[in-house]
Amino acid sequence: MEHIQIAIDGPSGAGKSSVSKAAARELGIIYVDTGALYRTIGYYAREQGIAVDNAIAVVPYLDRIHIEVRYENGVQCVYLNGENLGDRIRQNEISMYASAVSSIPEVRAFLLDTQKKIAAENSVIMDGRDIGTVILPDAQVKVFLTASNEARARRRYIELQEKGMPLPYEEILADMNRRDEADRTRAIAPAIPAPDAVILDNSDLNFEETVAALLSIVRRIAAEKGISLS
Ligand code: C5P
Repeated sequence: MEHIQIAIDGPSGAGKSSVSKAAARELGIIYVDTGALYRTIGYYAREQGIAVDNAIAVVPYLDRIHIEVRYENGVQCVYLNGENLGDRIRQNEISMYASAVSSIPEVRAFLLDTQKKIAAENSVIMDGRDIGTVILPDAQVKVFLTASNEARARRRYIELQEKGMPLPYEEILADMNRRDEADRTRAIAPAIPAPDAVILDNSDLNFEETVAALLSIVRRIAAEKGISLS
């Protein structure tokens, strides 16, 4: 079977990771969370005592960073210099660090091969901000998953609560707006839809409806392009 590459981009809190994970399971392919890679570099920067507004200071450290992505029981694990960071990269502070390091060209270049290699070796559904534009410009299916700011902040609020890292809704909304604005307007790999991406706005869809909508887009495009899916 020909490898299929499905690129899912969009702002934070649109549900990219949970929706992509469910779609990957349904399609029998692997899910790649690229945000976790930027979070890992952000985590490392914070460990070094680098201030979030001086993230550029992480560049000289890049040759000391070894990142490995492994799949354990179907779950993506990111190892930083041999250590699995687990949910430590999910803290809100690390989100801000991830956004800060992600606007640095050297960081993006550093993570490029890791992402391309996984997609070259497997059928994937990969989510991030620049997957359809930069990492997998030839992906057969590209979807830009988005929702209103309020819907996205509400979902992140619930998610952080469930993970035992609760934060006030207003703070989440403000941080999310700041992060999205930075991601969208940065000079390198701005988080914008690829010209050939299908826009899926799920403000009024629940989780199951979003997964169903995504799968129907994937199946329609695969059929049009003569790609066989499991
Ligand atoms: O998707 P997630 O919220 O985990 O990503 C964290 C941050 O990493 C984003 O705000 C964005 O700045 C950055 N990122 C990126 N390119 C990607 C994935 C994530 O710039 N492909």
